Amino acid sequence: MKQFQYVRPATQQAVLDVINKPGALALNSVVSENKLVADKYPLLAMALKAGASPQLRNMATVGGNMMQRTRCTYFYDTAMPCNKRVPGSGCGAYEGVNRMHAIFGTSTQCIAVHPSDMCVGLAALDAMVIIAGKKGERRLPFTEFHRLPGDHPETDNRLAPDEMIVALEIPDNNFAKNSYYLKVRDRQSYAFALVSVAAALDIENGIIRHARLAMGGVAHKPWRLFDAEKSLIGKRVSEESFQQAAQLAMQGAKGFGYNSFKLKLAPAGIAEALKQASGLV
Ligand SMILES: Cc1cc2nc3c(=O)[nH]c(=O)nc-3n(C[C@H](O)[C@H](O)[C@H](O)COP(=O)(O)OP(=O)(O)OC[C@H]3O[C@@H](n4cnc5c(N)ncnc54)[C@H](O)[C@@H]3O)c2cc1C
Ligand code: SF4
Repeated sequence: MKQFQYVRPATQQAVLDVINKPGALALNSVVSENKLVADKYPLLAMALKAGASPQLRNMATVGGNMMQRTRCTYFYDTAMPCNKRVPGSGCGAYEGVNRMHAIFGTSTQCIAVHPSDMCVGLAALDAMVIIAGKKGERRLPFTEFHRLPGDHPETDNRLAPDEMIVALEIPDNNFAKNSYYLKVRDRQSYAFALVSVAAALDIENGIIRHARLAMGGVAHKPWRLFDAEKSLIGKRVSEESFQQAAQLAMQGAKGFGYNSFKLKLAPAGIAEALKQASGLV
């Protein structure tokens, strides 16, 4: 619990001095404005600044943003069935107005999406979640923190009832020069992502040495694009390699009617985010 104690809002700056460990109570606005975060992890700063509104970012915390539940209008409409609200009752969105909903990792039980921007950046950056509970401390890769719906959409993440998030660790990387967070949404501010893409590249002499890609607005959890990342390694920075990676990323995607436009928007977003990150614009 040590991290948690010295990360009260009054001591925001103290926690950010430990740059690789943003504490769970650090405010989204403070983390996004921190110079070291901007210098070392610009992808995280960009993702945070794309979230919500300045007022909300001034209240939202790292832990709270991770813990927000998936967003779905049917979840709040008690006249409609919702397996997440009442397990076994059905899913109103599956054949309903599902424009905001998932295209990856869905189940017949639930097609809701996780709404966070910050989490998409953290998934791409290989963050580790530091969790404290009665049995002590444990660490979980960020990509494993949130769950896919499966047969239990009522459970959003892998935190046990007696546990808390205390901090995050982000490993060093060479992505600072070539990172970009693209968020496609209905309004330029105060709107959840239709599709978002976190792209980070490590480029040497025009050749991609390492790549990280994750998407938001498309799944019950931040959706990491491991196969597309691998396809980029060793390739020259080019429109063609970005388009190929984007097509590869779409394997297994499925639309549900109103949200089927995401099947085209998502690959276009991946290619554009990679272009922006690489400077190929
Ligand atoms: C209108 C609106 C628009 C938004 N738009 C966006 C957006 O575009 N992008 C985006 O990323 N986010 C968005 N958000 C989310 C917002 O940024 C907040 O992160 C979110 O509302 C959670 O609030 P909070 O951080 O104050 O957490 P809280 O409300 O304080 O906590 C949320 C939950 O997490 C639990 N919790 C908090 N900290 C911990 C911890 N350390 N360990 C375990 N459990 C914990 C709490 O008990 C609670 O159950 C939006 C929110 C609203 C209301
Ligand atoms: S998509 Fe999930 S949250 Fe939305 S109605 Fe279906 S079960 Fe409920």
